[in-house]
Order: sequence, then structure tokens, then C-alpha cells
Amino acid sequence: MAGRKPTKVGKLRKAGAAKSVRTGKARFEPWSPAEVEEAFTRFARANPAPKGELGHRDPYTLLVAVVLSAQATDVGVNKATPALFAVADTPAKMVALGEAHLREMIKTIGLYRNKAKNLIALSERLIAEHGGKVPSTRAALEALPGVGRKTANVVLNTAFGEPVIAVDTHLFRLANRTGLAAGKNPLEVEQGLERAVPERFKRHAHHWLILHGRYVCKARAPDCPRCLISDLCRWPEKTV
Ligand code: SF4
Repeated sequence: MAGRKPTKVGKLRKAGAAKSVRTGKARFEPWSPAEVEEAFTRFARANPAPKGELGHRDPYTLLVAVVLSAQATDVGVNKATPALFAVADTPAKMVALGEAHLREMIKTIGLYRNKAKNLIALSERLIAEHGGKVPSTRAALEALPGVGRKTANVVLNTAFGEPVIAVDTHLFRLANRTGLAAGKNPLEVEQGLERAVPERFKRHAHHWLILHGRYVCKARAPDCPRCLISDLCRWPEKTV
């Protein structure tokens, strides 16, 4: 086919590495830096200031909401937190509320017994060690009861503006499915994104990718015709 004009995506791919990667059953070329730049330029154009969907008022209520959201939906958490934050929006008020009352207020959320226990312990620790404030370092956050790497990353990104990417189930699926940052576990995907995403996009990458995974690149029925990166996506089963 001599003389055939290369497509924009063809040109972008040529600019990148030629090595294949294995992601689950799929085997395909990794994204070139130019393709990653193009994808995030589109996300930024479509949604310049993306926001998370967990209702919160400040770093403490965000931390509580993120702890509650583990293995639960943001919608479910948002149904319970307005009433909770009306009576307990500080560590001192949470401790005063007590574990039994807290359990009652969050019992519609999965794993609520364990979460209530952790939130009381976490609040006590914030009072004892951080003057009742949420710390802004990963080490101090991950030392809190019920706080793992993903929760710490959400708080660092959303409350403190750090350019870190928290990998939840949506982001893990999207990164592997598209080939943007293949990895066997969330940490591998996070590290792949850390390497791949240009600095100027890192602040919002977390929310762009989570929202895209949640509403467009859905687990069971990805909405490929509505996808703004469908031409860049490597998934062999995409429908466009
Ligand atoms: S083309 Fe389809 S599979 Fe690929 S990222 Fe878009 S929605 Fe997901």
C-alpha cells in the first residue's frame, strides 16, 4: 500500500517504543509518550477541573469518606455521610459519638463494623499525634488505622493537591485494558502511570481516569462509541 497516508494515531505510535507487553490475555504495543500526551490533552480539554464524587467538607471528612468507600460505592457512602458529618465532622466529635453510634449511622455501608472501629481509632490517633488535623505525608497517613496506600493517595491528591494517582478498581481495569499502564496489582499500575503520565497532567490524572473507568470504560459494557480515547486504546475487544 505504498503512498497510503499514515493516520494521526499511526504517527503517534511510531514515535514510541516498539516492544510488546503482556496484559492478561492481550498482547499489544505499549503507548508511546506522544499517545499518552494526546490522551491526557483530550481529558484536560473535556474536563479541565475534574472532581471526585465523595461528599466531604475538608481533609478530615474526606479521609472518613474514603475509609468508608473501601469495597463500597461512592453513591452508598454519600447517602450516609451527610447525617454523619452533621454530628461528627471532627476527630473529637467522632470520638464523642462513639463506636456503637457510629456503627448505627454507617450500617448501610459494607464492612461497617470494621470501618467504625478504624474510624474511632483513627480519630483518637489524629487527636493524640497530629493536633486533631489530617497529616499531609504518606507515611503519617498510612500509619493511621484503616488507611492503606490507595486511601492515602486519594487524600494526598484531593485534599493536599499532590500529583499522585490512587489506583482503585476502575483505574486498575482501565489502565490494563487500554494498555496505558499494564500491571498485575494496583502498585504496579500506579508505578506505571507515575512513569508514563507527563508531570503537567499528574495532578488531575487520578480523577480523569477514575471517572472514565466508572462512566465510559465500564467493567461489563464499555461504552466505546462514546470514548474519547478509542483510537488510542489497545483493547482487542473494544467495539469501535
Ligand atoms: S475504547 Fe472502549 S475499551 Fe477502550 S478505553 Fe474506550 S471504552 Fe474502554
